[in-house]
Amino acid sequence: MIIGIPREIKTHEYRVALLPVGAKCLTQDGHRVFVQKGAGLGAGISDMDYENAGAEILDSMEEIYDEADLILKVKEPQPSEIKLLQKGQTLFCFFHFAASKTLTESCLSKKITAIAYETLFDQHGRLPLLAPMSEIAGKLAAQEGAKCLENPMQGRGILLGGVAGVERANVLILGGGIVGAGAAKVAAGLGANVVIMDVNQERMRYLEDTLPANVKTVFSDPHAVETYAQAADLIIGAVLIPGKKAPHLLAREQLKLLKPGTVLVDVSIDQGGVFETSRPTTHDEPTFVIDGIVHYCVANMPGAVSRTSTFALCNATLPYARCLANLGTEKFIAQGSGHQEALNMRNGVLTNRAVAEAFPNLP
Ligand code: NAD
Repeated sequence: MIIGIPREIKTHEYRVALLPVGAKCLTQDGHRVFVQKGAGLGAGISDMDYENAGAEILDSMEEIYDEADLILKVKEPQPSEIKLLQKGQTLFCFFHFAASKTLTESCLSKKITAIAYETLFDQHGRLPLLAPMSEIAGKLAAQEGAKCLENPMQGRGILLGGVAGVERANVLILGGGIVGAGAAKVAAGLGANVVIMDVNQERMRYLEDTLPANVKTVFSDPHAVETYAQAADLIIGAVLIPGKKAPHLLAREQLKLLKPGTVLVDVSIDQGGVFETSRPTTHDEPTFVIDGIVHYCVANMPGAVSRTSTFALCNATLPYARCLANLGTEKFIAQGSGHQEALNMRNGVLTNRAVAEAFPNLP
């Protein structure tokens, strides 16, 4: 099989879908790996690194899409890439079809097979290709929050860990899943007083057992959120209710209860955000201020650390990419319900229930 790795062209996307070690594994499995010139540069990987691993470098994305049976990508195909898709080609990447009818329709019209990272489940019912990105976003949330607390960012002018004789910052984390746990580890490591809230008792028991002593768990209800928010310097939104819009845990009128210069980092922004005043921002302009409260709402946080993100993503995707290349699409899908869920469309027909429900008029 010929496997193609195009250079990502979405704005501010610097990740790449395959590491040189992946190229080595796939060529050893008997496949040819074509990598577009410069595809790895954003993550600090040179063409020569790929060549040394057995890949062949092609000059343009047109050649990649022309030649490959299987395309490995990071983000959904952009309009100029969609034009190049070939009937019967398989794409393995993040699609998030339910968020875009245009993307869904145009991929359907090209009669490709789309296997989505974000709907691939493992045998425990978890999402193994999303988890590494959540872990990164969580750790970044504490790091970015600490930066936003500095005066030039209009924050309270507070150092997260304090110094001898001066109080540490109070960090409140809403949601104790993968993002929340990552944020708690970093904030606690920097010395802050951390409170992490969740509605899942079992999860809180686990967090209580595994996180350091300067992290305490509190059950999340509207009264507790308001009480702890008033004491907080940094609040991180990390809630997820699968398939649903994130609930608003802090309303606009509650901003006046917070200390001026409090920082809100809304990691849940890709699901609409947990603060009523949140709206998506970009790495170019990550923050805005409402009523003296700093909001950081970057929707693709892992993009800021493309090298770490590339390695974390590829570590997770490679076993599936190898399986897909070695077995072919049909046998890969037949391997279990987790793989079936990942199949979003096949030859012009939607096959994922949630996406089909989002667009009932599409085939
Ligand atoms: P997760 O499922 O691991 O954790 C979510 C947690 O929220 C769960 O433990 C759940 O019990 C808890 N929860 C649900 N309702 C709650 C409530 N009312 N109060 C407190 N906790 C509640 O999810 P995750 O992987 O940690 O992802 C969290 C969010 O971060 C998702 O929306 C995800 O899409 C988003 N995310 C954003 C970025 C970004 O770049 N902005 C990157 C990665 C993930």
